[in-house]
Amino acid sequence: MNIALIAHDAKKELMVQFCIAYCGILSRHTLCATGTTGKMVSEATGLEMQRFLSGSQGGDQQLAARISCNEIDLLLFFRDPLTAKPNEPNDMNLLRLCDMYNIPVATNIATAEVLVHGLERGDLDWRNILRN
Ligand code: PGA
Repeated sequence: MNIALIAHDAKKELMVQFCIAYCGILSRHTLCATGTTGKMVSEATGLEMQRFLSGSQGGDQQLAARISCNEIDLLLFFRDPLTAKPNEPNDMNLLRLCDMYNIPVATNIATAEVLVHGLERGDLDWRNILRN
């Protein structure tokens, strides 16, 4: 499965901790991330991943394009609900595209855990079937 990671600044450390905890599962999949999120996660875990530009420089839009091309199976997007972001419309667009293409998306760690356990159990295998 192709898994995409993105975390707002206030949630990046949480994303790192999450990826350390689930490193074993995540290592069996293909990962990509926005620039800073990807750098922090790969430095902390050793997980290999494709890194897009930083979100503020268009990395979120690179990710959006991958979703639109059906190249992402799961999005883990740890959002900071407290701080206003200049690229908020891009964030909303990411979520809109996930709804459009039926991509499972977690916007907080509680949902992310459920999705990763589901991924491990094979609950998302239908996406492979659809692609082939
Ligand atoms: P980053 O992008 O991982 O490069 O920080 C995400 C964001 O800007 O929210």
